[in-house]
Parts: sequence; C-alpha cells; structure tokens
Amino acid sequence: MRRRWLFADQLGPHFLDTPEHPVLLVESKAVFRRRAFHRQKAHLVLSALRHRAAEGDVRLVRAETYAEAVTEPLTVCHPTSRAARGLVRRLPGVEMLPPRGFVTAPQDFVSWADGRDHLRLEDFYRYARRRHDVLMDGAEPAGGRWNLDADNREPPPRGADHLDVPPPPPVVEDEIDDRVRADLDRWQREDGIAFVGNDGPRLFPATREEALARLRHFVTERLPSFGPQEDAMLSGDPWMAHSLLSPAINLGLLDPLEVIEGAESAYRAGSAPLAGAEGFIRQILGWRDFIWHLYWYFEPEYRAVNELAAHRQLPRWFAELDARAVGARCLADVLAGVRDRGWVHHIPRLMVLGNYALQRGWRPDAVSDWFHRSFVDGYEWVMTANVVGMSQFADGGRMSSKPYAAGGAYINRMSDYCGGCRYDPKVRLGADACPYTAGYWSFLARHEHALAGNHRLRRPLQGLHRLTDLDAVLAQEKARGSRAP
Ligand SMILES: Cc1cc2nc3c(=O)[nH]c(=O)nc-3n(C[C@H](O)[C@H](O)[C@H](O)COP(=O)(O)OP(=O)(O)OC[C@H]3O[C@@H](n4cnc5c(N)ncnc54)[C@H](O)[C@@H]3O)c2cc1C
Ligand code: SF4
Repeated sequence: MRRRWLFADQLGPHFLDTPEHPVLLVESKAVFRRRAFHRQKAHLVLSALRHRAAEGDVRLVRAETYAEAVTEPLTVCHPTSRAARGLVRRLPGVEMLPPRGFVTAPQDFVSWADGRDHLRLEDFYRYARRRHDVLMDGAEPAGGRWNLDADNREPPPRGADHLDVPPPPPVVEDEIDDRVRADLDRWQREDGIAFVGNDGPRLFPATREEALARLRHFVTERLPSFGPQEDAMLSGDPWMAHSLLSPAINLGLLDPLEVIEGAESAYRAGSAPLAGAEGFIRQILGWRDFIWHLYWYFEPEYRAVNELAAHRQLPRWFAELDARAVGARCLADVLAGVRDRGWVHHIPRLMVLGNYALQRGWRPDAVSDWFHRSFVDGYEWVMTANVVGMSQFADGGRMSSKPYAAGGAYINRMSDYCGGCRYDPKVRLGADACPYTAGYWSFLARHEHALAGNHRLRRPLQGLHRLTDLDAVLAQEKARGSRAP
C-alpha cells in the first residue's frame, strides 16, 4: 500500500482509506518564512501536525520544502491551494486522489454552476440540501421553509454583557504544545521568522479527540441557542453561540458531514430548534462548500480582481493589529480580538473589519492576504470568495448581490459598542462623526457610477443626493484617509 501524504489541513480519519493506512507528514519551515502568520495560528497548525505524527504508522519529515521530503511513491488527496496542487502534479510518483473534507463533489458543483448568470449561495444551498438529503422531509425542506434567516437576525439581548450559553470546554496544552512554543520562540530569535499577534494558551482543538469533544459540546449545549443572535456582537462576549469549529474543520480534524449530521440529529431529536439547526447547517453545507468550490471554479486571476479600483495599501496599525492606536470602540475591540485570539466571529469579520477596508479603499489582495495570515482558520481557498468577492466586492458582484458596506447604524443596532464610543453613530460630520457612518457615504459617493445599476442600492444612492453636507463629509473622510480612527 502506498503511503498517504497528508497536508497539514488533512489530519482526520476521512483522509485515509483504512485506519491503519501508513502516513507521511511534512513539516516545512519555509511556509513560515513566506508570510508573517499569527503566532497562535503557527502554534495551532504545528501542534496539530505533531500530535497527528504521534499516532499510528506516521513518518514525519522536517524539511525546508515539501519536494525534499517526498522520496517514495505516495498517494495524496487533492490539496486545498492551487500552488500545492501544482506541486503535487509536478512530483513524480505521487498519485492525486479526489478532494475530501467537503460535502459536494467538484463535478456536481460544476454541473450546478455551468450556464448560470449569477452564482448565489441560496440556490446552491437548496441544491445541496436536496442532493445530500439534509434537513429534508421527502421532497420538501424540513418545517416547510428553506431559509430561516429572518428569525436569526436579532440584536443582542438588551442590557446583557454576554449570552447565557455554556462556554466551550477549554483545551488542555501538553508537552507537544510546549515544544512547539519553544521552537517558535527559537525560530523568531535565530531564524528571523516573524509572526503577528500575541501568543497565548491554545484555544482551538489540535487533535481529533479534542475536536470531537468540542463538536459534542456544541451540539448539546450551544446549538440550541445558535440561531437568533447569530449576527449580533457583544464587547464582553466574543464567542456568542458560535461553534468555534472552523479551525478544527479546516485542519481536517472534523468531517463537515459529521458536523452537519450532529446538528440535524439534534433537531430531529427535538433538542435544537429548526432555526438554529438550519442556520448552522446553512453555514457548512451552504457557505463553506460554496466558498470552496468558487475558489476552483473561478479563474486563477480572480484572486487579483479589483473592480472598484481600490489601491490603498493597508495602514501599519491595521497590518500589525495595533488595537491600541484605534479610538473607534467597535474596531478597537475587534482588532484586539484578532491580536489576542486570531479569531472573531463572522459579523466582526464582515461588518467591522471588511467593511472598514472596503470604505477606505484598501487593496483587496492585501486585505485577503491579511485575513489569511491573521486568522487561525485562514487558508487561501477561504479567502478568495469570502474576502475578494463577498467582503470587498472586488469582483463586481459575481457572487453577491451587493457590497457589504454599512454605516454606524448597523453596528449600533447589532452590538453594544456605540454606547461607550467617543463617536456617535448618528453623526457624519464633525468631531463626533462616526467613521463608519461618514465612511459609508464617502464609499457610496466614490462608487456611485459603478453601483448605479444595482437595484439593492437604489435607495441609499437616492439618499446620498439628499445630504446637504455631502461635500464637507467627503472632505472630512478624505482627510481621515487610512489613519486609525
Ligand atoms: C472577511 C471574511 C473572512 C473570513 N475568513 C475565514 C477564514 O479564514 N476561515 C474560515 O473558515 N472562515 C472564514 N470566514 C467565514 C466565517 O466568518 C468563519 O467560518 C466563522 O466565523 C468561523 O467561526 P465558527 O466556527 O464559530 O462559525 P459558525 O458561525 O459556528 O459557523 C459554522 C461553520 O460554518 C463554516 N462557515 C460559515 N461561513 C463560512 C464562510 N463564509 N466560508 C467558509 N466557511 C464558513 C465554518 O466552517 C464554521 O465553522 C470569513 C468570513 C468573512 C466575511
Ligand atoms: S459610533 Fe461608530 S465607531 Fe463608534 S462603536 Fe459605533 S459604529 Fe463603531
């Protein structure tokens, strides 16, 4: 039997044909030389790789490059980046198998997508529900509705500083983690390898056992509360009722199908409401697979598209996660979350970080690279459609129907940030002007021509012309530029 080469994001049993399959793992330092990753991400990936190396028939090779480590005939599951796929194809004696770790097969996605004018999540999600018989009662969606999003957009509970949800069980570090930490310290000291963000106790699973414990806890204790405040933010509760499973799923420690089955079983058993189970399953069977397939379906040049001609470089305070430089309470808190944990949930990513970058006209490829490096669950395949397409609208709308630009009113409604902020979300001009509110109008004015045909923006664009102080707002935001707000 040929040894199975597992990349560091292919660590779970579903990447093998039998539990006894001999394995090759490669730990390459060169990966960390190319980019300054978050320190906790480097720790998590190396810890997961080395924990996996301690199980079963595994050969772990430490090498500068992957090519050096490949010295025998191997099989490998389709890797998750174009560069890795190119390498696998070039190496003699390496047989590439179809991808694993996602639900829908590539050929199914292509047959679904070919010939469509617009690729939209909702259509793909319904296709995938039917195709994989998930949350279906015969030919109909369970409960009679495909989409329970309308039930899942509640603001945070008034006056609460956290959601009343049991926290995820902590992971306990061991001597492998200690050795990883010592190695990373040495690489920083002696090899000039740089990281961003703060080191800290490992927060996310590095083993299959830890990942399964988190999954079980989520399904029984947290999923029942997942739905309603899915989009809400609280300064005292970074986790809310989210699953925190993305790092484990993306490392390959959990099979997305077993996560989906866990959520559906909880709904069928009556322990989780449909809105929560549907909302959660939509994230994985829908969003995660959709984003994965778009990475391969769109042409390689897609990652460099820049339809809104956003050419500003990322400012240093943002690139270096310097939250202390920021006075805007929402942005300071979210940036501090990235610095201290390498993770914030979906809405801070989209509506605080991505929204700010979009409003300020930062380069989409630089924003994408920043997300990739700074998040514990960041991988190239996740970035392209999430950041370039959805968050920065740099593809002109090939995968989403409008840009995710919003002013302070949205953040005020969906969080507790604005109360304690030096800015006022209702004010767009003057010393109290909220940078998101003023930035929103400035974004719309800058792209009025490009966005004119977008029917979802008709009313905001009409509103733009009713602003009597527009010129002054635009001058103010031009002067603010990319400075820390
Ligand atoms: C600008 C931006 C950048 C993002 N970067 C990443 C990233 O680097 N890695 C990443 O895994 N997700 C990314 N996402 C998607 C999403 O924000 C995270 O998957 C989610 O916040 C992870 O936390 P969770 O596990 O608690 O998610 P939950 O809210 O509990 O959702 C369950 C699961 O659904 C999946 N999921 C949900 N939405 C997406 C999505 N849009 N794309 C891919 N998977 C999704 C994840 O596997 C997640 O674990 C990004 C989204 C945006 C808007
Ligand atoms: S007022 Fe503006 S900057 Fe301050 S927290 Fe609210 S949205 Fe953020």
